[in-house]
Amino acid sequence: MVRPGKIVCVGRNYAEHARELGNPVPERPLLFLKPPSAVIGHGEAIVIPPQTQRVEHEAEIGVVLGRSLRRADEVVARAAIGGVTCVNDVTARDLQKADGQWTRAKGFDTFCPIGPRVMSIDPSTFDLSTLQVICRVNGAVRQNGRAANMVFSIPVLLAYISQVMTLDPDDLVVTGTPEGVGPLVAGDVVEVEVPGVGVLRNPVTAQVPL
Ligand code: ZN
Repeated sequence: MVRPGKIVCVGRNYAEHARELGNPVPERPLLFLKPPSAVIGHGEAIVIPPQTQRVEHEAEIGVVLGRSLRRADEVVARAAIGGVTCVNDVTARDLQKADGQWTRAKGFDTFCPIGPRVMSIDPSTFDLSTLQVICRVNGAVRQNGRAANMVFSIPVLLAYISQVMTLDPDDLVVTGTPEGVGPLVAGDVVEVEVPGVGVLRNPVTAQVPL
């Protein structure tokens, strides 16, 4: 299973998704962090905590660093990519709106499914713009996005992040979700597929009150 040192995420990186939540398309990448304690693997349950009434899926393309990156340009940033994986940036939408920042909404245990594997790539030959991400809930397609439609491309994101913090090998950058986000409830099965990488499948359960 993937155990990233840190998880750097990007908000509103597809224009249609920004619009569906009533947000402007950002002028620069909008960054936030998810805690590594939120990570679960393929097949493990997403647990809905009692604090929220609205948990949503966000299917995203995950980029795993192959080497360190600090104050890099886009060319150097691209060369530092080690692999690609599927990520579900599970979000308590009501808490995201209520808190004004996103730590609680994005940070619950089990809110970062990753997997089922990291596909190693050779960044000198792999065309990142061909990557696609699909979300299904109980078999029905909810999201279908293409990296070609990102507001900021993967190399631009990595270079931008590296101006702020050093990215280390095995750190994970989560590159934003396309339109179609929607609710998850106990009993659902949610899948995030990046074609060529695999299908990340997780059941959804509710936390049993103590
Ligand atoms: Zn997201």
